[in-house]
Amino acid sequence: MPTIKVDETRCKGCELCAAACARKCITMSTTFSATGYYPAVCCAPDRCTGCGLCYQVCPDLAITVFKEEKK
Ligand code: SF4
Ligand code: SF4
Repeated sequence: MPTIKVDETRCKGCELCAAACARKCITMSTTFSATGYYPAVCCAPDRCTGCGLCYQVCPDLAITVFKEEKK
């Protein structure tokens, strides 16, 4: 099953990834990251298709897309 991982140390909370995800898999955290932003989180990994759009729009290279489930 595809999934994504957000690197909170790079994310600046711009929300571009959440807007880009047609499957509405991404939302913003309600708690600050260590760098002082509300980072993106994957809220519905079961809906992720691994399309990579979120990765492509992220200006901070904070998202990694995994095509297969991590062991
Ligand atoms: S890989 Fe595609 S479906 Fe999955 S979270 Fe990113 S934009 Fe959404
Ligand atoms: S596009 Fe990148 S920097 Fe912006 S909220 Fe998403 S993960 Fe964070």
